[in-house]
Amino acid sequence: MKFGNKFDRYIAVTFFVTIITIILTSYLTFKEIINSHNKQQHSAITPLFSLVTSEIIRPLNIAYFMANNRFVIDYAQGDDIKKAYIISYLQKISSSYNMLAFIALKNHDLMLDSNAKETMLSSKDAEWFHRLKDLPGDQFTDIGNAEDPHLYFDNRILDQNNQFLGFTGVGIDLNYFANKFREYNERFGFELYFVDENNLVTLSSDNIMKTESHHRKDATTKLSDLPWHQALVKDGTIDNNLSSSVMYTTEDGVLITQMPIQELSWRLFIVSPPASDQNEYWKIFVERFIIFFVIVFIFYIILLNIIKYLKSRLVKDSETDFLTQLPNRSHIHGRFNEISQKNNTLCVVLADIDNFKQINDSYGHLVGDDVLRMISDQLSQTLRQIDTVGRWGGEEFIILLPDTSASQAQVIVERIRKKIADISFPISTTSGSFNTTVSFGICELPLQERTIKDYISGADKALYKAKNNGRNQSVIFN
Ligand code: GH3
Ligand code: MG
Ligand code: MG
Repeated sequence: MKFGNKFDRYIAVTFFVTIITIILTSYLTFKEIINSHNKQQHSAITPLFSLVTSEIIRPLNIAYFMANNRFVIDYAQGDDIKKAYIISYLQKISSSYNMLAFIALKNHDLMLDSNAKETMLSSKDAEWFHRLKDLPGDQFTDIGNAEDPHLYFDNRILDQNNQFLGFTGVGIDLNYFANKFREYNERFGFELYFVDENNLVTLSSDNIMKTESHHRKDATTKLSDLPWHQALVKDGTIDNNLSSSVMYTTEDGVLITQMPIQELSWRLFIVSPPASDQNEYWKIFVERFIIFFVIVFIFYIILLNIIKYLKSRLVKDSETDFLTQLPNRSHIHGRFNEISQKNNTLCVVLADIDNFKQINDSYGHLVGDDVLRMISDQLSQTLRQIDTVGRWGGEEFIILLPDTSASQAQVIVERIRKKIADISFPISTTSGSFNTTVSFGICELPLQERTIKDYISGADKALYKAKNNGRNQSVIFN
């Protein structure tokens, strides 16, 4: 019994160690996946810096070099103008950098671009020229050209005396930015927002770029209109005057990187998907885990039942006599312990087949075995539910009769003895038959502080008397 409990404990421990190992392994793997996802997002921000450098800073530099080109300044100052010459210069810039190049000359009331388009500065189409001209500073960005929206990088052309001569620079198709941003958005789930010094959104991946938004105050998107920015303001975490990149996380887990573009007094906001996506992962993890746990638990219960069944089979086999299918000594010992805990008195009977050796000698061992089986059946059939009969060894049987007096036991035993004496045992080798008898020794004792040995010894003595008195009888030990 002790072994059984220990075995059960081993199974339970093995089982739970396995479950915990699997949970831990999958938890760590899962965490690793989320971490690498986060790392991927962080590392994706790095190429954004070069995106900003190449897409925003480079055109700004090109515009600067154009405006400071001696030849450009001379032309802006001069009286006559070789349009073809200027256009070929603009086309060269345009093809080298894959951008639209333009020049706007105040003295000539003329704007030329690399597509050889001419616009008079006094016309409605050149509204921008007059607006930017009066602003402080030399470098500007401006979205213009309603039919084919471009982001223009304008640089003031000045003479030696800092007199204003016009603007020159480059323009980049807004679709180009939109495509670049969409690429990032699709790959990493980022949204990008470029914001100028007036906290107006100049460029974004969020399809809020509108061609003429810069000229119409009501159509511009303010930084303060964006929900994630409102969350940052509420937290009090945002720093508007920063000189290097800063990362923020809103309460909802939205990761925001703020990056200054000092050349333009712009800021770039990179808004990463909220952590709720990660919560989604965790939800899946927990769901899977519950399913897994239920399956494993059912499996465990089935396994326990199989083990229980196999164990009971094993115990039964090990406590059953093979020939007679009666309980053997081992089982009788266990049954005696049970009875001694529950009952007050017990009567033990030892039964021994008379002259059994002669049966073996006369008819052979197989016939002897048949006799043993038939007598076993007779013994077990005649007894009560609470009684136990077992094979004690050889041709001896033991009967345990709880809460039974010796005289009551003798009544039962006598009934059995007579029945056995009446059986005619067939001889399988011939067609004949024979009779045999059994002697019984009965021992009744109060159970307190008695061992099975005390009972056996008493019953044995009584049995010895029965044999001595001529066999085929029952004797009570006293
Ligand atoms: P008594 O009346 O004094 O008990 O005489 P007995 O011949 O029955 O007693 P004894 O102890 O001399 O002989 C018992 C015999 O039982 C000897 C043994 O060969 C036989 N025996 C014991 N177990 C088995 C068994 O499983 N099968 C068979 N066929 N014989 C068995
Ligand atoms: Mg014997
Ligand atoms: Mg015998």
